[in-house]
Amino acid sequence: MRSHAHPPTHAAGLLRAARATTLRRIAGLTGHFDELIAASLGSNADDEHDPEGATIAFERSQLDSLVRQAREQLAEIDAAEDRLAQGRYGLCETCGRPIALDRLEARPTARTCIACASDGARRSRRSP
Ligand SMILES: [Zn+2]
Repeated sequence: MRSHAHPPTHAAGLLRAARATTLRRIAGLTGHFDELIAASLGSNADDEHDPEGATIAFERSQLDSLVRQAREQLAEIDAAEDRLAQGRYGLCETCGRPIALDRLEARPTARTCIACASDGARRSRRSP
């Protein structure tokens, strides 16, 4: 049985908006990253035990993981656009049921419905 609500007609727009937001985030993070590297080069020249140097190293690793997350998000958006092109967008990959529209609006790259996502979260919390 096919639901006429799926995929949502504005899915392509949601994904385009998500991509623009993610690209802006990466640009912002990358700019901040360059500033931090410049700052850490300056502080290393003074004193390598400078507590500010440790803060910068911490911030760099935080930024690094944020950039990685944003790039993963871009890959998710690519995959969602592929699903859209193939007519599989908005269907839960686990149970095959349509994903609630408000979930897709909040998270246009969602692959699973809320029920399956929370099942998965419970399972992954149990496993190491
Ligand atoms: Zn499901």
